[in-house]
Amino acid sequence: MARSEVVVNLGALRHNVALLAGLAPGAETMAVVKADGYGHGAVEVARAALEAGATWLGSCSTQEALALRQAGIRARILAWLDAPDEDVAAGIAADVDLSVASLADLRRIEQAAEEADARPRIHLKIDTGLSRNGCQPKDWPELVEAAKKHEVVAVWSHLACADEIGHPSVDLQAKRFDEAYEVARGFGLDPLRHIANSAALLTRPDLHFDIVRPGIAIYGLNPVPTDHDLRPVMSYRSHVALTKRIPAGESVSYGMTWTAQTDTTLALVPAGYADGVPRALSGRMEVLLEGMRRPVVGRVCMDQIVVDCGNDEVREGAEVVLFGDGRRGEPTATEWAELTGTIDYEIVCGMYRPRVRRIYT
Ligand SMILES: *Cc1c(COP(=O)(O)O)cnc(C)c1O
Repeated sequence: MARSEVVVNLGALRHNVALLAGLAPGAETMAVVKADGYGHGAVEVARAALEAGATWLGSCSTQEALALRQAGIRARILAWLDAPDEDVAAGIAADVDLSVASLADLRRIEQAAEEADARPRIHLKIDTGLSRNGCQPKDWPELVEAAKKHEVVAVWSHLACADEIGHPSVDLQAKRFDEAYEVARGFGLDPLRHIANSAALLTRPDLHFDIVRPGIAIYGLNPVPTDHDLRPVMSYRSHVALTKRIPAGESVSYGMTWTAQTDTTLALVPAGYADGVPRALSGRMEVLLEGMRRPVVGRVCMDQIVVDCGNDEVREGAEVVLFGDGRRGEPTATEWAELTGTIDYEIVCGMYRPRVRRIYT
């Protein structure tokens, strides 16, 4: 028995991908599997997403894309952000589409293409307002002109506030995107367009264009308050390692921040902050144990947490659900995020740890 396990429900993932693809029937679906599939396992997620109707995969780095190729995945892959010394030639040789956001990017890719003796496929990225990666509008015509001798697959961009429904920046970004597209057309190109992340896929059908790029939503976490039937894919569980009865007045864990008011039974669970349980959840989290939500008491430690079970009988070895899809009343990754002041993206990405076993169902 592993200390703790992340359980990845690939059936839920396929359900989500099929649902999302159905919401954008005129577009192809690029399943975003960067950061090891948001902590779910990029290869397994990619295969399941392709089975469920995705036709593209989105990686951050060339290295992430190559890992998919090495696993035998042959679908189109776009990689969008590399370290300056990345082996881009290997990406081109492996038929990975690459993003270009500057003349420097273009030069690097041209050089790599020569090395690889292969033709690069390019997605030109326009910065429409995120001010992150992407070419600024003033430099755009020069970039398009320099790139047009290559295979320019798409013009693309990324949204800053798509998760805030009605935020005026979305329309502004859409307008700048349209202008950049028209410039590319003016240079004789006929590229595809893609700009929609999960939030825009769910709320802005006018921005679906040719490809949609959902990430978080394929993992069943909804970044917008809509009631789409997305099913959380990841759950996190452990087992009771030890139980003990303590008398009233005894305290629990470092700093003795919690003291038993009455005699009570404690259950020790071998999962702590080194296993992905945020220490910031100390004094605030609950787990599902023997059919009930029960409080974790005292501080979250590196290797363990302690659950107060009152006068209930609890077996050593009993399953403890730390988070799941919520259907049994257990906490969700989203609840952890709300309690710790972050977003569920960060919670699930943070669950990839060597001592947490990952299993697939
Ligand atoms: C991460 C990412 C996405 C997916 O975003 P979600 O909010 O998870 O849907 C799409 N496009 C780009 C460029 C990204 O970096």
